[in-house]
Amino acid sequence: MTLGLTTRLLHADHFKGVEHGAAHEPTHTAVAFGYDAAADLVAVFQGQRGGHVYGRQGSPTLGALERKITLLEDGTGTVSFSSGMAAISAVLLSLLRSGDHVVSSQFLFGNSNSLMQTLDGLGCPVTLVDATDAAAVAAAIRPETRLVFTETIANPRTQVADLAGIGRACAERGVLFVVDNTMTTPYLFHPSTVGAGLSVNSLTKSISGHGNALGGAVTDTGRFDWAKFPNILDAYKKGPAAGWGLLQVRKKGLRDMGGTLSGENAHRIATGAETLALRMDRACDNALRLATWLKGQPGVSKVHYPGLEDHPQHVRAKLLFRQFGALMSFELDDRRDLFVFLDALKVVIKSSHLGDNRTLAIPVAHTIFFEMGRARRESMGIAESLIRLSIGIEDYADLQADFAGALAAAA
Ligand SMILES: *Cc1c(COP(=O)(O)O)cnc(C)c1O
Repeated sequence: MTLGLTTRLLHADHFKGVEHGAAHEPTHTAVAFGYDAAADLVAVFQGQRGGHVYGRQGSPTLGALERKITLLEDGTGTVSFSSGMAAISAVLLSLLRSGDHVVSSQFLFGNSNSLMQTLDGLGCPVTLVDATDAAAVAAAIRPETRLVFTETIANPRTQVADLAGIGRACAERGVLFVVDNTMTTPYLFHPSTVGAGLSVNSLTKSISGHGNALGGAVTDTGRFDWAKFPNILDAYKKGPAAGWGLLQVRKKGLRDMGGTLSGENAHRIATGAETLALRMDRACDNALRLATWLKGQPGVSKVHYPGLEDHPQHVRAKLLFRQFGALMSFELDDRRDLFVFLDALKVVIKSSHLGDNRTLAIPVAHTIFFEMGRARRESMGIAESLIRLSIGIEDYADLQADFAGALAAAA
């Protein structure tokens, strides 16, 4: 019986079996796991049998969430983390060695971009490229390049990476391709389909939706041959090579670096994830309708949304993704005051978060892109009046009315 995504997700705990017939895996908060026979404790420690030894490396509750993310991504395994940034840091720091080269999209989430600078300082040079152009990525790959990193839809200008082209370039050269799938979520896109070896998700965003917990995850798609990866330590070359990469990420990234998700947050995230498909359909539908409407409004000079036909990567986005996502940005013309506009919004929340069930707006140049200065913003095409929107699941008419009111107030 082949079940659909939401059905499998909803019944993942029940199919695996939970005590008392409970429909949810319980929230285990124990740090220590004890065994009656010392030999069993030793066997778990040595990886000869499954089980848990210490809460920093996992628990049944984290295991249940990890199974659900694996299922969503159609992957072979997942390691969860305390945040999306903890997951990305763990991938980079556990799989790279000094001297390794990284090619990264220049259109990255600000904190990931900052992390790339840290990596550069640790002796892993990073080349930033325009990931909408696979030829630019291919040209940047060197013999010592170990990893290519990109997002799917960039924030805030919504550039869509040439994921298929980059995947081919990486496959030809045997380079690990890592995709941050946060903006699309595994409901809209599977990085495995373009040959990515690892998919990273911030579970804080749309996968939860409720904005009540931070979390992150790294999923192995099964597409990368870890036997050919030179940085796997001998200790982790246990069992089939397919499991080596994730084992090293768990041991180095979780056990040694300690960015472990709490049981309570794992439970909240798993509950949110149950409705991912329903919420994404609604949020993406709201986003497409709002982008289309905003584009025709006086006072709005530009709208950036991959679902609009004049978006530079509209055709690519249509081919790759189930829908066009819930993130957009737009510019006000000179005659509208940005702050009057934002303060006139009554439903929409002014906040830096994204992927929430509530619609959120933020003035980009003054906040998330403030630190880099005006010159760098200009080079990145970030207008001073750019507003980023993360569209939620409100009733559409209420969103349109809120924006119409704010545009009138700012006129
Ligand atoms: C938010 C975000 C992250 C970081 O996730 P946190 O859970 O906030 O640490 C990483 N990548 C993208 C694309 C994001 O939007």
